[in-house]
Amino acid sequence: MSASILIVEDEDPIQVLLGYNFEAEGFRVRCTANGEDVPMLVSDERPDVILLDWMLPGISGIEVCRLLRTKPDTRDIPIIMLTARGEEAERVRGLATGADDYVVKPFSVPELLARVRTILRRSNPETVAETLAAGDISLDRRTRRVTRGLRDIELSPTEFKLLEHLMQSPGRVYSRSQLLDAVWGRDVYIDERTVDVHVGRLRKAIRRGREPDPIRTVRGMGYAFDERFNL
Ligand code: CA
Repeated sequence: MSASILIVEDEDPIQVLLGYNFEAEGFRVRCTANGEDVPMLVSDERPDVILLDWMLPGISGIEVCRLLRTKPDTRDIPIIMLTARGEEAERVRGLATGADDYVVKPFSVPELLARVRTILRRSNPETVAETLAAGDISLDRRTRRVTRGLRDIELSPTEFKLLEHLMQSPGRVYSRSQLLDAVWGRDVYIDERTVDVHVGRLRKAIRRGREPDPIRTVRGMGYAFDERFNL
């Protein structure tokens, strides 16, 4: 089960950047630019974590945070405040309002992802599993080890990331360009055929003899981790 995140951010480029990155990490993402929308969105579906911009038009992030903290059913939702204010006094004020963590803009996306994972590990351990497992294949994020049955699978860092990304959302089909962005990064220009080459190597590494192929090629679309490969 993937974690769901609610992003409350009125600066469009930041909202897009965050939405894109959390989606690529396998989160279910909802976004709004408006603090007033938060209570409704939260009651529609309780998010596992909220990223909350401090400076919002209308009701501020601080007020939204305070409001959520006063209600029994939303009191425990982890909140990370995003803000341009980096001063210690503001930081203290943010945390005093009930935010669980506090990130100063401009922030690094990998660092923010790491903080979100840390918070989820405390509040919701199953959403940030350290081991991904499907059928006889398991991937350990901490030790970077992949095994199939009893044998170790040797993967290059790229193939590891590719498998990790696919295994995070079993069944979901990713286009070549989505995989390029997620595994190689968004700013790198690489030919989409590179993805085919690495998928080919990954398949070769994880399959022996007549073992079923866990990676499904979806014609005209891309690739998916086949959640039923072992059936
Ligand atoms: Ca703002």
